[in-house]
Amino acid sequence: SPYVELSSSDSSGMIWELEGDDSVSYFIKKKLRVWSRQPRGQWELGTIQSTSGEEASISLSDGNVMKVVRSEILPANPDVLEGADDLNKLCYLNEPSVLHNLKLRYSQGMIYSKAGPILIALNPFKDLQTYGNDSVSAYRQRIIDSPHVYAVADTAYNKVIRDEVNQSIIISGESGSGKTETAKIALQYLAALGGGGSCAIENEFLQINRILEAFGNAKTSRNNNSSRFGKLIEVHFSSMGKICGAKIQTLMLEKSRVVQLANGERSYHIFYQLCTGSSSGLKERLNLRAVSEYKYLVQSDCTLIDGVNDANNFHQLMKALDTVQICKEDQEMIFKMLAAILWLGNISFQVDSENHIEVVDDEAVTSTAQLMGCSSQELMTALCTLKTQFDEDTIAKNLALRQATERRDAIAKFIYASLFDWLVEQVNKSLEVGKPHTGKSISILDIYGFQTFQKNSFEQFYINYANERIQQHFNRHLFKLEQEDYELDGVDWTKVDFEDNEGCLDLFEKKPHGLFSLLDEESNLAKASDLTFANKLRHHLGANPCFKGERGRAFRVRHYAGEVLYDTNDFLEKNRDTLSSDSIQFLSSCNCELLQLLSKMFNQSQKQSVATKFKVQLFKLMQQLESTTPHFIRCIKPNSKDLPGIFDEGLVLQQLRCCEVLEVVRLSRAGYPIRMGHQEFSRRYGFLLSEANVSQDPLSISVAVLQKFYIPYEMYHVGYTKLYLRAGQIDALENKRKQV
Ligand code: ATP
Ligand code: MG
Repeated sequence: SPYVELSSSDSSGMIWELEGDDSVSYFIKKKLRVWSRQPRGQWELGTIQSTSGEEASISLSDGNVMKVVRSEILPANPDVLEGADDLNKLCYLNEPSVLHNLKLRYSQGMIYSKAGPILIALNPFKDLQTYGNDSVSAYRQRIIDSPHVYAVADTAYNKVIRDEVNQSIIISGESGSGKTETAKIALQYLAALGGGGSCAIENEFLQINRILEAFGNAKTSRNNNSSRFGKLIEVHFSSMGKICGAKIQTLMLEKSRVVQLANGERSYHIFYQLCTGSSSGLKERLNLRAVSEYKYLVQSDCTLIDGVNDANNFHQLMKALDTVQICKEDQEMIFKMLAAILWLGNISFQVDSENHIEVVDDEAVTSTAQLMGCSSQELMTALCTLKTQFDEDTIAKNLALRQATERRDAIAKFIYASLFDWLVEQVNKSLEVGKPHTGKSISILDIYGFQTFQKNSFEQFYINYANERIQQHFNRHLFKLEQEDYELDGVDWTKVDFEDNEGCLDLFEKKPHGLFSLLDEESNLAKASDLTFANKLRHHLGANPCFKGERGRAFRVRHYAGEVLYDTNDFLEKNRDTLSSDSIQFLSSCNCELLQLLSKMFNQSQKQSVATKFKVQLFKLMQQLESTTPHFIRCIKPNSKDLPGIFDEGLVLQQLRCCEVLEVVRLSRAGYPIRMGHQEFSRRYGFLLSEANVSQDPLSISVAVLQKFYIPYEMYHVGYTKLYLRAGQIDALENKRKQV
């Protein structure tokens, strides 16, 4: 073949170095297509006309001929590979070829492609016809085999049933790239397969997602329906492959959003739904007003989302709450708490003649008190006094204005966040259907995507850390474990380089001088400020290559997905997230069942810092994933306008680079994606041998099978413990097995 495989991890201009002028003449003679870099940086297709010295004349598709230096030319793939469904199949794996391939497919409505073992999902930003029952059965029966979330879910399902190893579908990508939608699509497929023909489970999952999204999603500047919490949905299967339950684990909800909004963003959907969609009776009982009357909601100058009908969604939500068996009384309690939060935000403070702070005794106070089940006086005292116990006596001290506001907001955040956790608990109860499960499960992970804004705060800090961990999981499975496995098992193997993110994780986790430790240390100091924290980071981490100190309160972290500038403003306060024991006492003294329940939940949770709590939650989640076979889906946002049909090459390329798609494909091409222990292989295929091989050892049987079915020598490798096969080689054997 004239197409020389490029094995270097550097995709620039290798063809010239590898093949010298022979290939140039070959390209000229055959009028083969090449990519040439244009003055503005983009790559254009063309054919080489002639060469002189270091320059080549290239005729572009628009008829123009231009001169390009050789280093700016890359080989293009032959026509037959146009729009290949797996980047693995491309002869030339360079960035313009990969981009071209994805772009072409995208323009034809094919948003899914494989990149070796991973599925790439480009957000279509429009409804596609590729989902639904017909499509589910087509994938199930293997009538269609084009890349799809359904195909990934199908593989996971078959494996969990056949191999008895738990599976996971790990979905990653930046905010707005389509993770949550993808998770729903995967779940829908599993529900259709495991639901035994009835739509009950499918519907239940749908309703649960509706609840989670109403309470846990919000409009951000990146995504109108951005998940502000992470979730792992574990679907349990019976030995017959039927769904017998599910469990949802969540990763810390961003609670600052309840009280503080960036311009153009919204708080959680549920607030707008409640205000616009509740019946007049409910409105009266909760003393509910329009969205525009609540300070927590109007501070960002954004209360509506294009194309979203909050009132309708509220009706759907109430049905969803019915589905998960949250009774009407509990529903009313939930709404009451939401109304209380909104009214809390309207409570204001003033300074009296003696320079003491006091609560403005207005409708906001009476409404909040009524909703929470306490007197106005009790509420006002709770908001602006600090009680300290001295032996037998309790001494009450007036808070300063800022402290009082913080306390008010802390109570609002606490109620909301614990309400969310409580809701998830209720949902989980409704999911524990009947029989205990056999232990077979498929977990679907969907967390908040990597984020970078002009100004990044504590929320981005821990969210990006979580993404860093997921990236490590990805690296471990696709690069590290793979390569270690080959080496240990004696497979002859050339290493593929990959960007390891251990350095960045170390920056966060190192003790005693990692970002988290230093943050906790500083949070415990009474005199510390955002500035002293920033100084401390510079002092201890200045030399770390993943860290860059900035002037003032800022610092930078070199993440796998790019450099992010963080502003330490409010880091300490958000990390401490103190809810004074007075406040808790006050909440539990309210005549409201739910508030008493929620304050009990607080007492149960240890008094850790927010960052530490997050780290613990994340570790638990990752640990659970460790014991599963992962399937990776990489979601990509093709443009930042959220419009269909636009493929912004620069934006896509940046996302492909940061998840190292090209490296993954190189690895999978060079490698043996299928591996089976000799024992397992011989048990599965040994019977295809006609002779009596019973006396032979598994390794010999395996080799005999391979020889009998003429599996070419270069398509497999016999390791010490396992058999390694190139992609596609197992299919032939499986077919033989079925024929017997
Ligand atoms: P975040 O990290 O902010 O939660 P995300 O990756 O979960 O973002 P989604 O909310 O899943 O992003 O997707 C954003 C929007 O893109 C969706 O609301 C939907 O409009 C559109 N979208 C994503 N995937 C699809 C799809 N497969 N079909 C149609 N529209 C989609
Ligand atoms: Mg999401």
